Amino acid sequence: MNKGELLYEGKAKKVYKTDDPDLLIVSYKDDATAFNGLKRGTIQGKGVINNRMSNLLMKRLGEKGIPTHLVEELSERDTLVKRVSIVPLEVIVRNISAGSFSKRYGVEEGIVFDSPTIEISYKNDELGDPLLNRYHALALKLASEEELQTIKEYSFRINDELKSFWSGCGVTLVDFKLEFGRLPDGTIVLADEISPDTCRLWDSATGKKLDKDRFRRDLGGVEDAYQEIMQRLRDNI
Ligand code: UDP
Repeated sequence: MNKGELLYEGKAKKVYKTDDPDLLIVSYKDDATAFNGLKRGTIQGKGVINNRMSNLLMKRLGEKGIPTHLVEELSERDTLVKRVSIVPLEVIVRNISAGSFSKRYGVEEGIVFDSPTIEISYKNDELGDPLLNRYHALALKLASEEELQTIKEYSFRINDELKSFWSGCGVTLVDFKLEFGRLPDGTIVLADEISPDTCRLWDSATGKKLDKDRFRRDLGGVEDAYQEIMQRLRDNI
């Protein structure tokens, strides 16, 4: 399958058409952004890692009964995916307080929740991805009631699977962001990516951050952290 016309270029990925109207090629870049694009940089080798990691995790989720957009990894940076129309929601699942949760509610990072939380925001860069509840999502016709229910169920199941997988790698899954898409027949599938760009991953023994927070917060050792988390995954998958 060859890359056709460039359909879309996002912050971390390019998306190309293919000969098949139902399939697209996603190409992962090393570009990194944070704070809604205000901070920009490059993380050498990130695209290769995120492509591989996302595919390995999505394959695993697929085997556990979560439908995903993944078709086939084509090369180090390129993956063939099903064409979906993205549900314009960012779904965030949290096991431990961090990031915007800590800021919004004035609590320290690292509080382990009794049960996971979920939140949705409107995927809209111009508005800064504002937080929504399900009533707002319905009012704005971003998704149907049934779709929201499916998205919620999948998100918690994905959390259970990923949490237990990363725990076996000596890594704590703090929180992560998911995006879902609709196939032409309306089926909801997991789309976008699952990577250190979209998850907070802490070394279980030391608490060391092995994710994009090293870039966001100028903690240094960004490339090494991406390599380290990828190695943990390779050793355990
Ligand atoms: N996240 C993401 N894209 C976004 C916002 C958040 O992938 O546009 C991920 C982020 O990496 C973290 C989780 O979602 O794993 C929760 O992020 P949070 O709401 O705490 O926002 P942040 O502190 O990253 O601004």
